[in-house]
Amino acid sequence: MTTEQATMAVRMIIGGRQVEAAGGRTFDVVEPHRGTTIARVPEGSPEDVDRAVAAAQAAFDAGWATMTAPDRARLMLRLAAVVRDHQEELSQLESRNIGKPISGARWEIGRVADVLEFYAGATTKLHGETIPTTRPGFDFTLREPVGVVGLIVPWNFPLYLASWKIGPALAAGNTIVLKPASYSPLTAVRFGELALEAGLPAGVINVVTGPGATVGAAIAAHHGIGKVGFTGETATGQEIMRAAAGNIKKVSLELGGKSPNIVFADADIERFAAESPYSVFDNCGQDCCARSRIIVHRSVHERVVRLFAEATERIKVGDPSDDATEVGPLVSFRQRQRVVDYIDSGKAQGAALVVGGVPSTDPALAEGAYLLPAVFDGATTDMRIVREEIFGPVVAVIPFDTDAEAVAIANASPYGLSGSVWTRDIARAIRVSKALQTGVISVNCNNSVHIEAPFGGYKSSGLGRDLGLDALREYTEVKNVYVDLREAE
Ligand code: NAD
Repeated sequence: MTTEQATMAVRMIIGGRQVEAAGGRTFDVVEPHRGTTIARVPEGSPEDVDRAVAAAQAAFDAGWATMTAPDRARLMLRLAAVVRDHQEELSQLESRNIGKPISGARWEIGRVADVLEFYAGATTKLHGETIPTTRPGFDFTLREPVGVVGLIVPWNFPLYLASWKIGPALAAGNTIVLKPASYSPLTAVRFGELALEAGLPAGVINVVTGPGATVGAAIAAHHGIGKVGFTGETATGQEIMRAAAGNIKKVSLELGGKSPNIVFADADIERFAAESPYSVFDNCGQDCCARSRIIVHRSVHERVVRLFAEATERIKVGDPSDDATEVGPLVSFRQRQRVVDYIDSGKAQGAALVVGGVPSTDPALAEGAYLLPAVFDGATTDMRIVREEIFGPVVAVIPFDTDAEAVAIANASPYGLSGSVWTRDIARAIRVSKALQTGVISVNCNNSVHIEAPFGGYKSSGLGRDLGLDALREYTEVKNVYVDLREAE
């Protein structure tokens, strides 16, 4: 990839080579801060997916899968080190590509290296079991790689989310066809180049750029791919499941969310209000874990809304390249319009807009897809802003009277990804955490993601788990071997 020019020339990575799309087509990538084209990227097709799968299968057969675990771990550690060496370059690329504040981009790229290091360590701890069976033989299991895996990722945390799948996939000995979102292909392609620099064999990581409807769909349906790891919208996940049925592909799906932030009367309200605006407005609300519903006890409702709105107004919205910026623009003007439509629907359905919800008045931000974080009070469970994932900087506040009602409101959603419980009563915190139908819960904080712990959704928020040692299960087959121990005649 040439990153110096005004419009970067990008090529895909297939079989260790930088290549154009088989059909020779390209598409433009636009930066949301100014709306200008920053890169021209190959528009791949099913033919490119075929090429990538063949390259990945060749790398699998050539020894990636049978390489000793310590050797594979060493290569993964080298890749992590190369990512760290290029942290600033990758962060600038990510920030510019999707308008992510540079401070957040730096944090994410550092975590990409952390994820690779975690799974490099796991490589040598992946083992089977011996099992006492009724028959008097010897029974043991082997954990084997699936083969070629397809990884399809979204644009909100582009390389970071890709690493959640790349790490366990590589550790278990799989080879990869990675498809980044069309909004955000730049760091994935650069990562593919860096993997080669780090010494990963050609074909172990292939990166195919192009539309979800063609390239993504071809990956989901491909009979040469044994597993798809996907992060994105619930509707896309459903399509992927259907497409994967053709060869009974394994699937893991990290999908949408509408996470609750439940505030009890005995909570540290000041701390909740100071920290929680970031739990929904970080990344301009384009976060699957965004705690977009505040469910608050009626006795502290007014105070919570006032403090939360004041803290929201203090958030620094601005140019993503500024170190002080906390929230940048939305990823595109199309996405901003979608969010504005939700804000209009909230007003039309009777919720009260307390702050934000309008474009910034700062003339320096006039050309970008900016929208000031919006807080709605007086929301009810029948409103679209409460029921649907907005994927933008909008939060809705809903009061409750009893613990049971708080849980019922929180669970009245097709989603179940994340959420927080704020209370000083430890028994209540655990009782409510157990009652919530959601994959990840935080008590008195908003931290959903820990590299070492499983992450994933209940209900329509997903299938399977990323991160932690659980993710290794998603990228392995378990083989059971039974040995008859009778002496040979
Ligand atoms: P998306 O579903 O539109 O796209 C995700 C990826 O799928 C992209 O690479 C896209 O090109 C591809 N794709 C689109 N149609 C496809 C098809 N028919 N077949 C195969 N691939 C296809 O999602 P998005 O807009 O990029 O991301 C936002 C969504 O992702 C939100 O719903 C958000 O909640 C979700 N998300 C979930 C998590 C999680 O861990 N649960 C994390 C981040 C984002």
